[in-house]
Amino acid sequence: MATQLKPGDALGILGGGQLGRMIAQAASGLGLTCHIFAPEADSPAFEVAARRTVASYADTAALAAFADAVEAVTLEFENVPVEALTFLERLVPVRPGASALAVAQDRLAEKRLANSLGLKTAPFAAIANAADLAAALAVIGRPAVLKTNRFGYDGKGQAKILTPGDDIAALAAMRGQPAILEGFVSFEREVSVVAARGFDGAFAAFDVTWNEHRDHILHRSLAPAPVTDKVASTALAASRAIADALGYIGVLGVEFFVTDGGEVLVNEIAPRVHNSGHWTLEGALTSQFEQHVRAVAGWPLGDTRRLSHEVEMLNLIGADADGWLELLADPQARLTLYGKAETRPGRKMGHVTRLRG
Ligand code: AMP
Repeated sequence: MATQLKPGDALGILGGGQLGRMIAQAASGLGLTCHIFAPEADSPAFEVAARRTVASYADTAALAAFADAVEAVTLEFENVPVEALTFLERLVPVRPGASALAVAQDRLAEKRLANSLGLKTAPFAAIANAADLAAALAVIGRPAVLKTNRFGYDGKGQAKILTPGDDIAALAAMRGQPAILEGFVSFEREVSVVAARGFDGAFAAFDVTWNEHRDHILHRSLAPAPVTDKVASTALAASRAIADALGYIGVLGVEFFVTDGGEVLVNEIAPRVHNSGHWTLEGALTSQFEQHVRAVAGWPLGDTRRLSHEVEMLNLIGADADGWLELLADPQARLTLYGKAETRPGRKMGHVTRLRG
């Protein structure tokens, strides 16, 4: 079903957050209309889309009507249930597809995929109970991180294990959900690759980006990442291998740890546009959002070239966004706000990008 969209067609987007909002804005810039499907009535993406459906991802009648109203479906949120995608796939092209999402939703599956492609990861083990945890800790050692296998983001569903005294609390924090134990990586920096893969297997990546987190939430991204050419080319090749193996269509983000010794370890695959790619809105010839639209529409991928020596993106978390007026007055700053009704601590409210040199 390699159907190509044409201007005037409707693109369906599952998820109504800021990523959906920015995809819809890019789609509109290329003459598509957007239909957002999201469970929350106050979704920021609704503001910029022609049509909306407020319904649960389990509502098959609503999904069927949505499929009927659009020419293709994409997603901005990786925790859309795979069943919803499988259901939609029978009715309309869904890009990326359910099988790619199934891997990217599951930390064990994504690490196993990476290892099967010869890519390095932190040591890991599947954990269902206290006996598994004890056996895995005996091999992997402490410090380690226990994470729920699914539905974690921004550090949610994670517990660090530094001493034997932490084991029980860490397991309890998983609330009985299947988990993964990972050896704690003492990394020099975290980097990501945001890249697109088209219908025909064409692949285009933006510059490898350096990401700094605060309280488990992305704080700052800098492109290009200050890494060696070898680290950059390893991360880019790894991302391409993952996208090819998943038969991926659209933009994906792959997060890596770079160790002091220059090893590049795959941490996570995000089957969507990625926060660390927001700098491309003003800082690259094609933004990641336009690139995603091009890929899912079956159109040629755009040029990913960076437009300045260095591009920095800062997330505006919670009350950071209260400084919007000063940011607007700063000629170097390019401000994007997500139109969220309520400011909450830890909530991504917007971001600011600066091009240098
Ligand atoms: P994740 O949800 O897996 O992306 O983890 C969120 C953040 O926690 C990462 O960006 C790292 O800063 C940190 N983290 C996660 N796993 C590890 C690990 N195995 N070793 C060191 N830091 C980690």
